[in-house]
Amino acid sequence: MAQLFRTELPDFEVLTDQPQAGDADVPFIVVGRPLPGVIRAVPGLKLVLSLNAGIEHLLASGEVPEALPIVRLVDEGLALGMAEWVLAQTLAWHRNLFHYTELQAKGEWTPLPEKLANERKVTVLGAGALGRPVADHLVRFGFDTRVWARSRHDIAGATTFAGADQLIASVRGSDIVINLLPLTAQTADIIDKALFNAMADGGFFINGARGGHVVDADLIAALDSRKLSGAALDVFRVEPLPSEDPIWKHPKIRLSPHVAAPTHQHMAVKEMAANIRRFENGEPVLHAVDRSLGY
Ligand code: NAP
Repeated sequence: MAQLFRTELPDFEVLTDQPQAGDADVPFIVVGRPLPGVIRAVPGLKLVLSLNAGIEHLLASGEVPEALPIVRLVDEGLALGMAEWVLAQTLAWHRNLFHYTELQAKGEWTPLPEKLANERKVTVLGAGALGRPVADHLVRFGFDTRVWARSRHDIAGATTFAGADQLIASVRGSDIVINLLPLTAQTADIIDKALFNAMADGGFFINGARGGHVVDADLIAALDSRKLSGAALDVFRVEPLPSEDPIWKHPKIRLSPHVAAPTHQHMAVKEMAANIRRFENGEPVLHAVDRSLGY
């Protein structure tokens, strides 16, 4: 990654070692999950660039002093990757592919009634860098698409909902709910029994955001009672998911190891370098975190 930065910012010195006291100022740092004390030890730091879209760990750790701005990673690679993963899960469930895999294992030839996308209601929670492109793809496929966010969005072909008061209305009767919210004080544990109960019977839940959004016991109960017919989970409260966690062996859960939207270094570095240039030119940086909102 340092080499990519040297290519994008040839007039900058790119360091890979922790600066020492007395070294020249280092105005920019790129971090994933920095070890305690690393950020505070950097002399003359002005901007923290996250290698991840989610920055809740940086805020929760208290490692970034209040006065220092943080920018999230927003790039096309993340948006494309998440759209691919969500669409793969959505279409696989919609066209009963998970079900046919189970039938194949039993050697059963039993066609199920098949629906078209326009006969399925799908709700996307979050209309941000990842939620919005996913909603656009769902609309293009013909799904009856709803989108819920903090503020109201205008998304061609979709019905939009805003604010805590409209969460349940946004998922009522939905066959599929897709979570693409940031993890904040307001969204922790937001996906619970009440939300699953509002969905259509036998629905499908897809989580590409964070494990802390979901009350796991409520999800397992919804699957075991057949309120939900399945779930696709890419993210978990503890990662890697501990080997003893029942989620590993639940027959209705499709699990992937936090791979829905990996960071593609060449794209991420281009975005971060452009933000560094903006900062240097005195222009507002893009995708700055609003600490009062937590995202
Ligand atoms: P984002 O651009 O910040 O978008 C967040 C969306 O959530 C916005 O539409 C926002 O509403 C909405 N929101 C925030 N707080 C809300 C609240 N209290 N009530 C209702 N809506 C609320 O985030 P993003 O970049 O799309 O990332 C989405 C999630 O994906 C994050 O959790 C991130 O960590 C995760 N992620 C996962 C992977 C993976 O590989 N699995 C990779 C990258 C990111 P407004 O539009 O009104 O502000």
